[in-house]
Amino acid sequence: MTGVFSLLPEGQLGLLQSPLSGAEPYGDTEDLPRYLAVGGYAPLPAPDRLLDWIADAGLRGRGGAGFPAAVKLRAVRDAPGRPVVVANGEEGEPGSVKDRWLLRHRPHLILDGLRLAAAMTGAERGFVYLSDAPSERAVRRALAERRTGLRVDVVRTEPAYVAGEETAVVRRIDGGPALPTPKPPRPFEKGIGGAPTLVANVETLARLAVLHACPDVAGAVAGAHLVTVSGGAGTAAALVEVPAGTHLKLPADLCGHGTADAVLLGGLFGGLYGSRWADLPLDHDRMTAAGGALGCGALHFLHPGDCPVAVAAEATAYLAAQSARQCGVCVSGTEALAGALTAVGRGETDDDTRDRLRRWSGQLPGRGACGLLDAAARIVATLLAHFPDRIDAHRRATCPACEAERSDDGGRFRVPVP
Ligand code: SF4
Repeated sequence: MTGVFSLLPEGQLGLLQSPLSGAEPYGDTEDLPRYLAVGGYAPLPAPDRLLDWIADAGLRGRGGAGFPAAVKLRAVRDAPGRPVVVANGEEGEPGSVKDRWLLRHRPHLILDGLRLAAAMTGAERGFVYLSDAPSERAVRRALAERRTGLRVDVVRTEPAYVAGEETAVVRRIDGGPALPTPKPPRPFEKGIGGAPTLVANVETLARLAVLHACPDVAGAVAGAHLVTVSGGAGTAAALVEVPAGTHLKLPADLCGHGTADAVLLGGLFGGLYGSRWADLPLDHDRMTAAGGALGCGALHFLHPGDCPVAVAAEATAYLAAQSARQCGVCVSGTEALAGALTAVGRGETDDDTRDRLRRWSGQLPGRGACGLLDAAARIVATLLAHFPDRIDAHRRATCPACEAERSDDGGRFRVPVP
């Protein structure tokens, strides 16, 4: 099933539903009169009060790392200098469409969230950072409709896996290439023009705006997730909003993937999971405790025609091609992982290859300037942990799915925005 769906309980405000037209998701771009009619751009409460709501609700960033939003906001507010706020809409993770959908359909929700973030941090300057042309048009139209008092500029970048990483965002807005820089300093310490900078994912900002409008249900708003669901024949995707506490089974059943064999999680950041995927929680802490990562919440399901070894090889080859080639360990590490997985896929493997992959996937995480190397290592680690039988099948040349076509350019994970 493709399209846009909300699985939130009736009456709970979400990011996809239009409160004006009932439970139907927005089909077009919400303009200013419609946004004002549903309570948008409401008067600001005391900034500290809003920060307390966000902390109490437990809102986490939705760019992939899942960092507590209130902690980041306070760090920017408390750093020396006049802060800057950025709505980060550069959706580099393959298989995710949620950020572009929000920018295209609900730009005022994001600008409202940016206004609130500026109020909480004391910023007088904001940016919307993106690569998607339809999103840029929608945001520029929304900015022309509404002056929020906050000066906001739109900065366009070229799409790339690392272009949305927070230090790459700062570097690009400062006029450089959209490539990560070593940390520290992090943007909250020294960001755009040297100022403390909040780089917030657009879904985080949208949730902030809804939370401000509905403080009574703040916990439910903060706990809900937008997930992009893809996989199976073709590449069409569905965008689904799920309530807090949901397991993967719910969006999978809705979108016709209930009988899938496996799932690739988080774009490419969360790893591969086998037969027990349905019980995995859509929750950062519980996913981390289960040894994985939720990432941006994109779910790519594998069906009987999909080989997990081939998917892992394709994903790591894509990451190797997307490496910004700034950190030696990333260049050599991602290429080595991709090369070894390609060899596994061809059946050219022995116990040494498996040992090498196990060693590398344990040693490489955390050694690059951004998360790309971690993503490649996690894909390998989870393949080894959850699919030893499929690796053996390649050794014996008996993998049932290996007739499936594959490409090494990440084409499998490219999905259109519904
Ligand atoms: S880890 Fe890789 S992608 Fe990230 S900054 Fe270093 S070289 Fe670039």
